[in-house]
Amino acid sequence: MIASRRSLLAFLSTASVLPFASACNAAPAKAKAFPIVKSDAEWKRLLTPSQYAVLRKHATERPGSSPLDKEKRKGTFVCAADRNPLFSSATKFDSGTGWPSFWKPLPGAIGTATDYKLIYPRTEVHCAECGGHLGHVFKDGPKPTGLRYCMNGDAMLFVPA
Ligand SMILES: [Zn+2]
Repeated sequence: MIASRRSLLAFLSTASVLPFASACNAAPAKAKAFPIVKSDAEWKRLLTPSQYAVLRKHATERPGSSPLDKEKRKGTFVCAADRNPLFSSATKFDSGTGWPSFWKPLPGAIGTATDYKLIYPRTEVHCAECGGHLGHVFKDGPKPTGLRYCMNGDAMLFVPA
């Protein structure tokens, strides 16, 4: 009796640690596991309305609206949700678009996905830690990479060096 109760408890505790995603193959790609996972309600509480709109709802801020577009000091641009270091000021350039732009992310900082929100496919860029939407990457950037990471300032914070 005791033994079977133990094995039942062992079974229950194993079952409870299985990731939810494995039980639901129909979950959207967006729901894939990131190191930092919070409920929508938690993100809403933790972020400002504009941070939440960009990071969690893929909104795009009005060009020229973020002070980070004009930020020229040495330092690091980090995820506004979890402080994950995303871009060094050494890779920032003025793209003239009104959005903070970079030609290279920090190693392992971001992930990408294909986005069909407009008629043509774009490469969406998100934080590798929390999955929060940051912006898009285009192939019309400066040397040496030729890439233009077009970021929303609302998705980031600047940490001066
Ligand atoms: Zn993040």
